Amino acid sequence: MQMKLTVHGGAGEIGGNKILLEDGDARIWLDMGLPFGFGEQYFVNYLGPRDRFGLRDYLEFDLVPPIKGLYSKESLKETTFPYSAPGFSGVLLSHAHFDHSSMLGYVDKDIPVHLGECTRTILEAWAATSSRADLGEHDYRTFRSKRRIKLDGVEAIPVHVDHSVPAAYGYILHAPSGTAVYTGDLRRHGPHAEMTAEFIDAARAAKPDVLICEGTRVDPADTRAPYSEKDVKNLSIEEVKKVKGRLAIVTFYPRDVDRMRTFHEVAHATGRDFVLSAKAAYLLRSLEKDGRIKVPRVKSDGGLLVYLRRLARSIPWEEELRDELSDRIVGAEYVKKHQGELLLQLDFTHFTELIDIEPKRGSIFIHSMSEPFEEGDIEDEVKDRWLDHFGLVEHQLHASGHLSRKELESMVKEIGAKKLVPIHTDRPEMFKDFASGVIVPEKGKTISI
Ligand SMILES: [Zn+2]
Repeated sequence: MQMKLTVHGGAGEIGGNKILLEDGDARIWLDMGLPFGFGEQYFVNYLGPRDRFGLRDYLEFDLVPPIKGLYSKESLKETTFPYSAPGFSGVLLSHAHFDHSSMLGYVDKDIPVHLGECTRTILEAWAATSSRADLGEHDYRTFRSKRRIKLDGVEAIPVHVDHSVPAAYGYILHAPSGTAVYTGDLRRHGPHAEMTAEFIDAARAAKPDVLICEGTRVDPADTRAPYSEKDVKNLSIEEVKKVKGRLAIVTFYPRDVDRMRTFHEVAHATGRDFVLSAKAAYLLRSLEKDGRIKVPRVKSDGGLLVYLRRLARSIPWEEELRDELSDRIVGAEYVKKHQGELLLQLDFTHFTELIDIEPKRGSIFIHSMSEPFEEGDIEDEVKDRWLDHFGLVEHQLHASGHLSRKELESMVKEIGAKKLVPIHTDRPEMFKDFASGVIVPEKGKTISI
């Protein structure tokens, strides 16, 4: 017997993780993500895929791999690819980010999906508040850290890690012919560094034959500031203090609950109320009801308000928020009148609200997410034009969700696996600078371990 790995997504690219591990009777998927910019080689602006035809338009251009026994009847109905009965032991999700989970919508509902309890809550909150998200129906099996999961002769142990979304896990997989470790996405400079340390300890103790390792920041030429979550908080406090009487605006990733907590603290330290976006408020309410992790309590914590846009048609989940949080709901008029008292979360896609808010010139905009990867990013140029138009001063203050090059090196050494398969990086060959036994994966090509 031999362990085989096939990287169907995440080979030489950041995101889109879908890795098939086969050993004996077990056929296990590590994550089920779609890459960032999925399909943009063929679809642009109003030329979009016909989602009503399931995978038809995606299979035409090999945008998803043609894999027997993975896809649902529904998603193959309009394609020439024949449906086959489910042929996999299960999907193990590492965390709720788009690039690790969003292909679930096409997966056969009879393939069990193992995921953290809060990961499920986050995915469901996302599906409820996004018109584009459709995760389909699944046989969800939730776990907590270190629960042993049996899958056709393989024992999989999820161990929590710190990442830019709650409920993130790495996996230790004891298979008949060896042991594999999968890192998922992880960092050591976040508020829960001890969880990542625990994962690395458990991984080392398992004496793995192969480490399937994320490498988002493996390139030493990565010049982005290596801030920690604490740095983001302290530097933001400094900047917000400087703009007395004017508005402070922040934008960050929609599922980054740590960042919500950070900016709630920034608002508190600068004597402002933190105005959450409706989606962020909905996610926090869901996690609060779930009760497993500590999150800001939208309904009862001091200094929290929720921004609802004026829409032509009411959206049921937003109305639900309005009813539930009536005295905490604000809109553009309120923000316009109380600029010096507020820290407003505003996503790029909702920038049109600025027209109604009329921020005073010299107000600040904190960009608390990754800088664009390329020069001349169109979205970035549009953002700059808006900031310029409203006289907003931008600050780039972000703590990454990923290990730095140095931290990657020390983790790889500490775990000491015989072989290493780099994924979730556009520079996989760079692992050869500091690790032995590196196998650079090629998309869809099977590697024997
Ligand atoms: Zn991630």
